[in-house]
Amino acid sequence: MSGPVDLEEADWHALAGDEIGSLLGIGLTGLSSDEVDRQASCFGPNALPKAARRNPLLRFLAQFNNTLIYVLLAGALAAALLDQVVDAAVIVAVVIVNAIIGHIQEGKAEQALEAIQQLIAPKASVVRDGIRQTIAVAEIVPGDFVLIEAGDRVPADLRLLHARRLLIDEALLTGESVAAEKHEAVLPVETELADRQNMAFSGTLAAAGQAHGIAVATGTHTQIGRISSLIQSVEQTATPLLKQIDHFARRFTWFVLAGGLALFAFAVLFRSYDWINALIAVVALAVGIVPEGLPAVITITLAIGVRRMAGRNAVIRKLPAVETLGATSVICTDKTGTLTRNEMTARRIITARHTMLATGSGYVPEGHITIDGPGDQTEAMANAMPLIRCGLLCNDASLHKLSDEWRVEGDPMEGALFALAMKAAVDPERARAEWERLDEIPFDAGHRFMATLCRGLDDRAVMFVKGAPEALFAMTSPNELAYWEGAITAAANHGERVLAFGAKEMPTGSERISFDDVGTDVQLLGLVGFIDPPRVEVRDAIAECRSAGIAVKMITGDHAATALAIARQLNLTDDPQVLIGLELEKLSDAELETAVAEVSVFARTSPEHKLRIVRALQAQGAIVAMTGDGVNDAPSLKQADVGVAMGIKGTEASKEAASMVLLDDNFASIVSAVREGRTVHDNIRKVISWEIPTNGGETLAVVLAILLGFALPMTATQILWVNLVLAATLGLVLAFEPTEPGAMARRPRKRGAPLLSPFLLWRVVLVSLLFAGITLGLFFYMLGQGRSLEVARTMVVNMFIVAEIFYLFNVRYLHMTSLTWRGALGTPPVLIAICILLVGQALFTYAPFMNAIFDSRPISMADCILLFMIGLALLLLLEAEKHVMRRFGWFTELNG
Ligand code: ATP
Repeated sequence: MSGPVDLEEADWHALAGDEIGSLLGIGLTGLSSDEVDRQASCFGPNALPKAARRNPLLRFLAQFNNTLIYVLLAGALAAALLDQVVDAAVIVAVVIVNAIIGHIQEGKAEQALEAIQQLIAPKASVVRDGIRQTIAVAEIVPGDFVLIEAGDRVPADLRLLHARRLLIDEALLTGESVAAEKHEAVLPVETELADRQNMAFSGTLAAAGQAHGIAVATGTHTQIGRISSLIQSVEQTATPLLKQIDHFARRFTWFVLAGGLALFAFAVLFRSYDWINALIAVVALAVGIVPEGLPAVITITLAIGVRRMAGRNAVIRKLPAVETLGATSVICTDKTGTLTRNEMTARRIITARHTMLATGSGYVPEGHITIDGPGDQTEAMANAMPLIRCGLLCNDASLHKLSDEWRVEGDPMEGALFALAMKAAVDPERARAEWERLDEIPFDAGHRFMATLCRGLDDRAVMFVKGAPEALFAMTSPNELAYWEGAITAAANHGERVLAFGAKEMPTGSERISFDDVGTDVQLLGLVGFIDPPRVEVRDAIAECRSAGIAVKMITGDHAATALAIARQLNLTDDPQVLIGLELEKLSDAELETAVAEVSVFARTSPEHKLRIVRALQAQGAIVAMTGDGVNDAPSLKQADVGVAMGIKGTEASKEAASMVLLDDNFASIVSAVREGRTVHDNIRKVISWEIPTNGGETLAVVLAILLGFALPMTATQILWVNLVLAATLGLVLAFEPTEPGAMARRPRKRGAPLLSPFLLWRVVLVSLLFAGITLGLFFYMLGQGRSLEVARTMVVNMFIVAEIFYLFNVRYLHMTSLTWRGALGTPPVLIAICILLVGQALFTYAPFMNAIFDSRPISMADCILLFMIGLALLLLLEAEKHVMRRFGWFTELNG
């Protein structure tokens, strides 16, 4: 066997089929398992090395690259120079702990996203051990027999053995934007790379057609591997929200620093504070009030959302989609495979004279075909045989029995035709061997048919065609059109998907077919009706959408009557209206905008129609999620606010254009993702409504003290302590909040509704004032009781923490009361965070070494009870406010 170097230097394009085989030391019909193992150990996986991750040390150091941290460190230096060693040490400790938390959080978020990327690792079709199978691209080895279809990314460098209308977009490799046409003929040795039409290069995209070939180079030995070894990097985009908050935090930092400077000057000049203490206090406050930790917490919230969505079979490819999903107001979905199971069974066979019914379920090729109604069974069967044979020969799929289960390799409808042939006692392998395939026109959603040219044992050349009935009627011009249309309506009303079949005798010796050959003289053989049951869970998912104010539109390539029957079965709307592609074409953009509001089923549509539908919906202000699977769906997937590709039946091209991929192709998974999207958005709002007012309250209390000239209610180091323990505990838990009950009973939020709604702003002001009022009140009360300044300050610090805990319970439910069992019990992250916080506070208050560092003092049991009672009163007050807001409808008004 040849080594990798030989393979790279071989002129594959100049070799004929058998020469390729002998150079690789293999046959040209696919490898056996043994050969695969041998090649794999010789050549390794078909993968390019990953872009190196950022060095952990550099990532850690990057945590310090922040204006506030510089100021804080400068403060520490000043403190150290002035012999305030404890203060300096506390500041340094705070900075380091903060960096460690940030570092761990970032690493976790990155890991979670990376692990999820693995779920949608690309797949490829190969023939091994004589069976067509789908494997991970990384498992391909040189010598593999690889099949390519429109929409696939070429998985390795291939020498094509057979290419039909194959157009490959090689822009990645050559920069040429026009797709190159490929064929299998041998080329001269000196042909330039860009002109090697019998080669398909790894990483390029099949835009149309069909082909198969032999993998001649994999991994780093491919052309793309040689150009760049670092092509696969994890896509890391900031979301609009993150950018907005980051931007805000940066600008706010400067504002706060300016304010801090003024305050510091005021404190030293007019209030005769000790300058180093004033400096540290002001810096500590600045650090507290700038929500510099917010982007990190929001990233975590998003990452958790991404992970939860993956758990529900929705894999996010582009992070901003997580935010948009929650606001989705219209879901446009395919029918086949998304609303239905895409497990086809041929049920009804209609010929010119008879209708026959096939029994059996799924792909199990066992069942009977019997005449429906009066007539001669033998005659009916004889009439049906050409149709059944056509269904087998105009077909790329096959069925295999794997541990008692019959599985389809290829298109499910074609699998059903394979099973039908077996029920009619046809041996598929033998029939396909007797009718050698010479050429084909692959199926395309644009022309809606497929044709093959086959040569029989008697040298007859016959073209077999199957496709949408309208497409076949155009070729065959049948006499009894009314009969056929009646039959289609009858089958479609049962929700059956109807396919028509035709054949044409071609001149003996024909080796190619073209679109001209399909144009005329095709003889109509009959129709087959397939059942494809709706997915059970979809009905509930649609009901959930309806209660959540999300409209669902079915956009399908299928017949209007079939689509409508399925829409009714699923209760898509009370009275679904249908619009077919041809009518849609006649509408102006403005007319379409009106139509999309009323119509819920779009039938016989092509990918271009989808694009117009999304645009029309968006023009109406809708936020649109749109599904797609074909190579031509990429534009509408990109146009949609959330493009959703199918993980199982979708092409690589559609997956790359999409922002989310469904692992199970199931509509219900989109709805789960929307629910998680709403949860993420709620949680981000909860994080903000918790974090900003708590910082605000602290700042207000200290600023008032300085302005009015009384003793600081907390020392600088105490402020740092509060910031630190809160950031490490309660600041994180809201990211983990589960979905609020009723999340899917609300209308979607409006496009462009601000995150900081009037309600949140009101909350910021109210809670800041309450916090400042309570703590200052307590401070003066304690001093008035003759307690020492140190005890009063310890009480203030503990008051802050207790108030934060109670306020957290209030914020956990933004849309309903928190005074329920469920609300009181909390979640594990909440309880763990509170436990850690209470231990921290106990140390702060009672441990002698902490008393020494932070100048804190032990407090009595009665003091603790007082703190608890004030916290509880705060919670009740805020719950009453929530109730009033909801009662008078101000909540929704203020929420935008
Ligand atoms: P959806 O858009 O909901 O997934 P669909 O699968 O019916 O629906 P297309 O794949 O665009 O949409 O198919 C459109 C029509 O083309 C089908 O209704 C059928 O009549 C015909 N068709 C589909 N697959 C094949 C095939 N493999 N061979 C021939 N005709 C086909």
